[in-house]
Amino acid sequence: MFTHHSSAFILKRQDFKEYDKLLTIYSEKEGKIEVVARGTRKIQSKLAGHLEPFALVDLMVAQGKYHDRVTGSTILKNFEHLKSNFERIALATYFNESVDHLTRLHQTDQQTFDLIKEAYSALDHYNQKREDDFKRQVLIVLSFLLRLLSLQGFQPSFKNCFYCQRGIKEEQNFISYSQLSIICPACRKNEDNLETISPTTLKVLRLMSQERFSSLKINNLDDLIFGEIREVVNKILQAVSEREIKSAKMIEDLV
Ligand SMILES: [Zn+2]
Repeated sequence: MFTHHSSAFILKRQDFKEYDKLLTIYSEKEGKIEVVARGTRKIQSKLAGHLEPFALVDLMVAQGKYHDRVTGSTILKNFEHLKSNFERIALATYFNESVDHLTRLHQTDQQTFDLIKEAYSALDHYNQKREDDFKRQVLIVLSFLLRLLSLQGFQPSFKNCFYCQRGIKEEQNFISYSQLSIICPACRKNEDNLETISPTTLKVLRLMSQERFSSLKINNLDDLIFGEIREVVNKILQAVSEREIKSAKMIEDLV
């Protein structure tokens, strides 16, 4: 029987057969794959404790006829603060679901693996003192998702108009979810169903697409703008994955 090791993040767990779990994992060596963990629904299972989400695990996987299966696991890094309260768990769940929706099976990509690790670390290290802390954490997670979109080849254009290619000015512009781009007022006639986007939201989205966003300070972000940012990113994620991100509702209930 062929077995191999790989560092991985567990994105999703589903019940499978009577006692098993089907895990969707993002592994360093193989990208996103599905593996079966046998017997993990039995109370005395030794494996179960090491197959929780929000940890970096080292998995031993054996090749199977229909599904590969987990034969051993060790926790390499436990992101403890990430599980320290309901808000963080909701955010990490939302992040995991989005990663699952945006990535395809069996596509190894070191940059995506590193980005997941970076996102977990950023949330884990976030110093929870300020009142607007949750707002800030939501923005950090959304910024990682924008970067993940780019890695998967869906870079939304927030700088130039899709039709005329001119630089977007500071005015009321439009967004096209089919083109994943901003459309200037002069070109809005080219497309039906465009939605408006405010200049401030656009400015923050540009900042959020940058790698160093988690170290940037954004002060006094208006609730309306914050709401518009969440809506835009969620609609982009849905347009790309053609699926609803179910856990987005949990975030909306918490803000
Ligand atoms: Zn234009």
